[in-house]
Amino acid sequence: MSNPTDQYPQLDVIAVGAHPDDVEIACGGTLARLVQQGHQVGIIDLTDGEPTPGSPGPEVRLAEAKQAAAALGVPVRVTLDLPNRRLFDSFEARVLLATEFRKYRPKIVISFGDKTPLASPDHWQAMQITDAAVFYSRLTKWDEHFGGLPVHPIQAQLYFRLAFEPETLGGYPSHFTVDISETLEQKLASVRCYQTQFPPGKEHVFDRIRGAAILSGAACGFAAGETFVSTRPLGSLDLVKTTLPRLQAT
Ligand SMILES: [Zn+2]
Repeated sequence: MSNPTDQYPQLDVIAVGAHPDDVEIACGGTLARLVQQGHQVGIIDLTDGEPTPGSPGPEVRLAEAKQAAAALGVPVRVTLDLPNRRLFDSFEARVLLATEFRKYRPKIVISFGDKTPLASPDHWQAMQITDAAVFYSRLTKWDEHFGGLPVHPIQAQLYFRLAFEPETLGGYPSHFTVDISETLEQKLASVRCYQTQFPPGKEHVFDRIRGAAILSGAACGFAAGETFVSTRPLGSLDLVKTTLPRLQAT
């Protein structure tokens, strides 16, 4: 008998954004690096991000999102049809996202970890929806809500930052920075795929993204980095490798 998840590849990591371009800005360098390292990576956008002022419509934005995923080498990208600008944490939204988790069975989920004042309030809702969906993914005796898909316990949950927030996130102790020296340009290229969002007049956005990556990386001795929060304390099997990653690499 075939398993209902057979048609979906099992992923190591899924990054969740509210809108196409969130994930690229927040952790595109890390996703590209994970792909280079041979991990299976996917992106889920909760909305199609439309309408927005500079875009002619959802088809163009979806085409940009597809191109951006390709620029990172990410093979799986799912766009859910929750509403942009009025995204709210709800039972239906939680179930919709948890259904994708049950299909693709990620080991690690990365998503928003804080409010983003002066940017879209959808981001904060996305955080709450993702927190709940990670939990719903492993709840037994509830498969009927998820199209009969079996439970899937997610082993780790991380929070990302957009490039514009403070360096530390809401009181969590376990910050760490991924070296994206080799994939910073790929990250910027993926963000550039969103021509409707970042036309020539918004070149400063790329300076900010690059600047944030350089600052994050510099604190750890990398040319560029992306900083994350682990929702649980991080373990180490080797104190030297954990605290001096560059030393081990040379
Ligand atoms: Zn966004």
